[in-house]
Order: sequence, then C-alpha cells, then structure tokens
Amino acid sequence: MYNITLIPGDGIGPEICEAACVAIEATGVKINWEIANAGADFIETDGTPLPQKVINSIKKNKIALKGPVTTPIGTGFRSVNVALRKNLNLYANLRPAKTIPGIKSRYDNIDLIIVRENTEDLYAGIERQIDENTAESIKIITREASERIVKYAFDYAVNENRKKVTAVTKANICKLTDGLFLDAAKNIAKKYPQIEYEEILIDNMCMQLVQQPENYDVLVLPNLYGDIISDLAAGLIGGLGVAPGANIGEDAAIFEAVHGSSPTLKGLNKANPTALILSAVLMLKHIGENQTAQMLQQAVENVIREGKAKTFDLGGKSSTMEMAEAIAEEIKQLKTCFLS
Ligand code: NAD
Repeated sequence: MYNITLIPGDGIGPEICEAACVAIEATGVKINWEIANAGADFIETDGTPLPQKVINSIKKNKIALKGPVTTPIGTGFRSVNVALRKNLNLYANLRPAKTIPGIKSRYDNIDLIIVRENTEDLYAGIERQIDENTAESIKIITREASERIVKYAFDYAVNENRKKVTAVTKANICKLTDGLFLDAAKNIAKKYPQIEYEEILIDNMCMQLVQQPENYDVLVLPNLYGDIISDLAAGLIGGLGVAPGANIGEDAAIFEAVHGSSPTLKGLNKANPTALILSAVLMLKHIGENQTAQMLQQAVENVIREGKAKTFDLGGKSSTMEMAEAIAEEIKQLKTCFLS
C-alpha cells in the first residue's frame, strides 16, 4: 500500500483528479490517498492558499498527485505551484511531449523530453515597483542549480536511451545569467561523451520545434523558457489535455499536468483527464511500479487510437468521467496480458 498525497486543486482540478483516481484504481495498485487542499478557496479557513499541512503531507508521503491551482494574474497571492516547488526543492520539471496515435495533429513523430529548471530564474518572484511607471524583476541563475538540472537531463538521457541533449538559452542577450547557465551546461556535457550535446537560442528553438521537431530529443532550459516551450510542445502533440509532467527533487516529487486550472471548463465534466492520467504514469514509474505504469499508458493509447472515448479537445464528445471509465475498462482487458 502506498501513501500518496492528492491535491485536487481548483478549476478543473477536482474533476480531473477524480477521473484520474478511477483509472489508477482500475490498475489494482493499492494507494491510500491523503487529500490535501490548496488554493484561493482555502484562504478563509486556513489563512493561506498553501497551508503548512499540505507541505507536511507531501514531506511525509514523498509523493503527490496534483490538480492545477489558479494563480491570480497581475495582483493577489503568489503562485502556490511555484511555492510548492521551491519549498520542497523540486528542482527538475520533467515534461515529455510524445505523439499519441489517434490525436489529430500536424505532426506524427514528436518525442521530446523537456527538462525545465524549477527553482529560480524570473520565478524567484523578486520584483519591485520603482515608481508608478517602472517595475523591475530580478532574474536569478546560479551555477549550482544550472549544473544540477543539466546533470538531471543528461542522466535522464543515459537512463532512457536518448541520443541528444540541447541546452536552450538567450545567452546572446542575457550574457551573465543565461551565459552562466550555458557555461554550466558545457561543463556537465563534457562528462557525458556518449550523448550528443548542442546549444540553441530560445527564439530559434521555437521556430525549429514548429518546423522540424523530429530533430530534437531532450531539451534542458532555465525556468521561464522551459515553461513556455512545454506549452508549445503540448501544442505539437494535440494540446494541453494530453501533456503530462513531474516535479522532482531529492526528497519528494509532485506529478501534475502541464495545463492550468482552465476556469472556463470548471464543473462542466468536459476537461480531458488524460494529461493527469499520464502524469500518474510518470508517478507509477517513479515509485517503481513499472509494469502498472506501462499498462496505464497502453490503456490511454488504446482508448485514444481506437476512438473508444475522446473529450472535446481531441475532437470527441466524451465527458471527463467517460474518458476515465473507458481507460479503466481498457485496463481490465489489458490486465490479462500484462499480469499473466
Ligand atoms: P490553462 O492551461 O488552464 O488553459 C489553457 C487552454 O487550454 C484553455 O483553452 C483551456 O481550456 C485548455 N485546457 C487546459 N487544460 C485542459 C484539459 N485538461 N482539457 C481540455 N482543455 C484544456 O492555462 P491558463 O488559462 O493560462 O491558466 C489558468 C490558470 O491556471 C491560471 O491561474 C494559471 O496561473 C494556472 N496554472 C496553474 C498551473 C498548475 O497548477 N501547475 C499550470 C499552469 C497554469
């Protein structure tokens, strides 16, 4: 039995979490979910959008599955998501973007791994209003965090049989900050002669990913570029509804979709739960349940490829729960070959 923290989040979070749990439960893996609530709705009762009990639960269980949490734009409290990653030192944000047959997209051969630094850069949130018409934000890049994330990317490449790591920066303009990230990347790359290493500027990277995504493999980026490129990569594979993610540190890990709380879909039972279910696949792999992870992944792929269920973003009419139930049903069929 695994004890795992479940953060339903807000917006579409609770409904996709409920759906993901249905699919996960069908695999037979025994999980005791410890519910931990975060977000604006809890400010009144807990005095903060990120109650300490949420952090304590993740520290205790070491693993969490998380729905998205809304961050007010422009004003209001700082991001619960960023705070969680910083607080628990979840320094690596892993965001795979892989073509799933059956999803309509301009591309049929995407297989990218985005490794985003998760603790610093402009997300440090050090901003100041200088006067009414001027504001500044400080971009922090350290050698320690840069080397750590690049090492993570290369180790991932070695362990997962990947061929190439591409470091993405804007070091021609941000000479000191991105220059430092790039210098760290070069140093680490020397230790992995078996993996091809290359560098590219972020603006060119955007164009290359739209024109020739098949030329890329593992991308390693500072925080902000990594966040933006992961939404771009989600677009290449059919949208945010199918893009999973993981936030990984030495002592804990949180698994969550790339997408946000999508307020316009809240409560409609329409949102695609696939991204969160595929995040659960990453979670199961992380805890060593490799066969179960493979079975869940296969079930998702079969359901989409065979058109057994598709939410609106994939061109279908299925509800959130119908999608999850179709995946759970598929698992029943797969269990006989996976577990025999
Ligand atoms: P979003 O990801 O919520 O939505 C972007 C677009 O993708 C919308 O059109 C939305 O309807 C669609 N979409 C997203 N998830 C979908 C799904 N599962 N199925 C079908 N369509 C889906 O991004 P946003 O609108 O920029 O952000 C909304 C809020 O979410 C903001 O407050 C933002 O700060 C927050 N956010 C949270 C996280 C997180 O919790 N990790 C991540 C990103 C954004």
